[in-house]
Amino acid sequence: MNPSSHFPDAVIVGGGVIGASVAHFLSKAGLSVTLVDKGGIASGASGRCEGNVLVNDKTPGYDCQLAQLSQKLFPLVAAELDEDIEWRQTGSLLVAENDEELDAAATFCHQMAAEGIAVRLLDHGEIHGDMPHLADDIPGGLEFASDGALNPMALARGLVRDAKKRGATVWTGATVTAIQPDKRHKTFRVQTVRGDLTTPRVINAAGVWSPEIGKFVGLEIPVRPRQGQILVTERTVEIAPRAVIEFGYLMAKFGKSGYQRKISPEMEQFGIALVLEPTGAGNFLVGSCRQFAGMKTTVDLPVLRALAQRAIRFFPVVRHIHAIRSYAGLRPYTPDHFPIISETRIPGFYVAAGHEGDGIGLSLITGRLIMQIVTNQPTDITIEPLRLDRFPPPQAIPSVHS
Ligand SMILES: Cc1cc2nc3c(=O)[nH]c(=O)nc-3n(C[C@H](O)[C@H](O)[C@H](O)COP(=O)(O)OP(=O)(O)OC[C@H]3O[C@@H](n4cnc5c(N)ncnc54)[C@H](O)[C@@H]3O)c2cc1C
Repeated sequence: MNPSSHFPDAVIVGGGVIGASVAHFLSKAGLSVTLVDKGGIASGASGRCEGNVLVNDKTPGYDCQLAQLSQKLFPLVAAELDEDIEWRQTGSLLVAENDEELDAAATFCHQMAAEGIAVRLLDHGEIHGDMPHLADDIPGGLEFASDGALNPMALARGLVRDAKKRGATVWTGATVTAIQPDKRHKTFRVQTVRGDLTTPRVINAAGVWSPEIGKFVGLEIPVRPRQGQILVTERTVEIAPRAVIEFGYLMAKFGKSGYQRKISPEMEQFGIALVLEPTGAGNFLVGSCRQFAGMKTTVDLPVLRALAQRAIRFFPVVRHIHAIRSYAGLRPYTPDHFPIISETRIPGFYVAAGHEGDGIGLSLITGRLIMQIVTNQPTDITIEPLRLDRFPPPQAIPSVHS
């Protein structure tokens, strides 16, 4: 182990897509970084998710602008990395289940077009022309031309490898057990099971574990695990050429009231809404569900069955296709659905966490914003909505400053 790696300019806690992106951008800005993860790279949510990079599931305004900024970075970064991250900008489709949803989708289409998004309303003929396997009664939907997808594990690996080329050090199997701020020397002592690090800056990119890391320095970070489960199909006929999301997904994600989808109480309870993603290898990932189930990462047969039923509702051909694998992951949820990309009241301690179901898509803008905050550069977008202190106390639990 290189001894200078024990005194880096920044320690990044977490080797998911967020920590990897922070490592990429900080090392590009000339900082020496050490990234530590208790497991391996992408061993948390970033290895148990889908790879959609979407604007179609964002709300008009800031949410949308942030997603657009990130999306524009993917072709640039994909071209820079040695690793093939399987970036494909094929667009996505938002499908309406009935005329009522199609009317709501038309309104959404106008709002998103006003944000500068390349979006178009598709009628019955057009959407079925694009997807012959779609159920006959689906009346239409929206096409978002700029949306894309990638392999999230390859993204995390590729970003980390790239940072390593610029001298970054990576400690895997290095659980952080304590962080002690030293006010006098303006440094932190980061204790891990593989040894200690001394650094002037810590970036907490520990996803659903970010509250544990925050507690080490007396910060309350309001991130909760929101579980999702995925069914993976065998390689099969092209069910859909690009990601397909049902319009009701937006309601499941944001918990919108007022409109009642025609789904069973069980599906409602599991937070089921179709997200179908074709992978680069010809399989399909079938999601989505959303549940607050603690840190549980095992799958449940009733949930998997409900996911399959929802996929069959939109694509009856799925009935004849085998599932080969399933997994569950934990989305880092915040109460207002925005991530935390922020400095904190502890000088030198930053947070990059809480991306819920958007962490893959927002990974690149997150790394770039953290780099801009850390190096005192103007940020690409205002970061006020992303600050940790937007959440009311109890953020201020006693500090452990020595
Ligand atoms: C089913 C599912 C589908 C999804 N689909 C999409 C999608 O299509 N598009 C999208 O944009 N997003 C999607 N997401 C969300 C996305 O996966 C997450 O937002 C993203 O992976 C979060 O990345 P992260 O780096 O913050 O966290 P993680 O990937 O969880 O990384 C945190 C890391 O911190 C490490 N760590 C924790 N504690 C410590 C410690 N004490 N010491 C050292 N290391 C520690 C962990 O080992 C872990 O590797 C999905 C999520 C799920 C669950």
